Amino acid sequence: MNGMPQPYGLLAEVTHQCPLHCVYCSNPLALLDRQDELATEDWVRVIREAAGLGVVQVHFSGGEPLVRGDLETLVAECRALGLYTNLITSGLGLTQSRARSLVSAGLNSAQLSIQGDAAESTNLVAASKRFDKKEDAARIIREAGLPLNMNVVLHRMNLLRLDAIIDVCVSWGAERLELANTQYYGWALSNRDLLLPSKAQLEEAVGVYRRRKAELAGRMELLWILSDYYEPYPKPCMGGWAQTALTVAPDGTVYPCPVAAEITTMDFSSVRDHDLAWIWSKSAAFEAFRGTEWMADPCRSCPRKEVDFGGCRCQAFALTGDPARTDPVCMHSPDHHLVENALVRADQVDVAAGGEMIRDKLVYRRPHMSQRR
Ligand code: SF4
Repeated sequence: MNGMPQPYGLLAEVTHQCPLHCVYCSNPLALLDRQDELATEDWVRVIREAAGLGVVQVHFSGGEPLVRGDLETLVAECRALGLYTNLITSGLGLTQSRARSLVSAGLNSAQLSIQGDAAESTNLVAASKRFDKKEDAARIIREAGLPLNMNVVLHRMNLLRLDAIIDVCVSWGAERLELANTQYYGWALSNRDLLLPSKAQLEEAVGVYRRRKAELAGRMELLWILSDYYEPYPKPCMGGWAQTALTVAPDGTVYPCPVAAEITTMDFSSVRDHDLAWIWSKSAAFEAFRGTEWMADPCRSCPRKEVDFGGCRCQAFALTGDPARTDPVCMHSPDHHLVENALVRADQVDVAAGGEMIRDKLVYRRPHMSQRR
């Protein structure tokens, strides 16, 4: 495609339906209903078009992708096209027979999320008492012959239990554990003052991560996703806007990243109206921040502009209302005080406050519309 970057990853958000109500959910604040979702044949077409664009990996996500009864059909289509498939799941609803049928269809791997090391922490952040189901899911994934990858989102309510969280993942047989410090968009931004750790908490957790990573070398891989509010420079989000991957939402809207639906000032195209190749290479939203030409100072004249691409457009919009501004995480951003102020508040939060006291203040991901009826 004549100098146009090629995506290698497709995040297929097949539904927003989910049994959990996580306070840091990365889905948009306005969740889509089941009746808005693409039909099976639309997803099959999207997968074929993605393969034609150069995509080699498809990550099935949500919400909880297991609520879609046609997941096997979509996985089988990927297999037929030679694409690697990964299931990103809460584990709730995963049975032995479902795991077997997904593996038969060609599923390559699964990533199981946990919220903490016990039922209490799961209930506090996800309003779910089914920690036992997570352990069942881990066993089912391993017995199905899939590598067990795990993920936990870290925040001030579970950071100091990092050792115990890692112990749980070791005992469940995880091969890889992603320790993902909360990124503050959407629901997480609504709860930021309760989720953002203090500097001291973060430093202690980094020490635990380094010690356990060394101890577990060769047994379980540990990955640390930075808490970017504490970094001097922003993350090179998605390797730059519309460079390496794309996300298709349950209703077929296509985004350069999973959080971009929150940028309400931009129009994103749908696979219902255009094919994926046109959206990737020609749509205004994908072209808007591709490369570096769109940048204003301080990014335009900065030697790091090809390193971090001005940071995250979604974070710039979330904090300033303008997706074209320098990510406020950057120490050179004129909006950096917005991040500094949040860090000052984080140091003032009462870390000793009990679970019930915090629960009253947290904004939980709302039940899905169809669950409210
Ligand atoms: Fe990155 Fe822009 Fe900050 Fe430079 S000024 S470090 S390019 S965000």
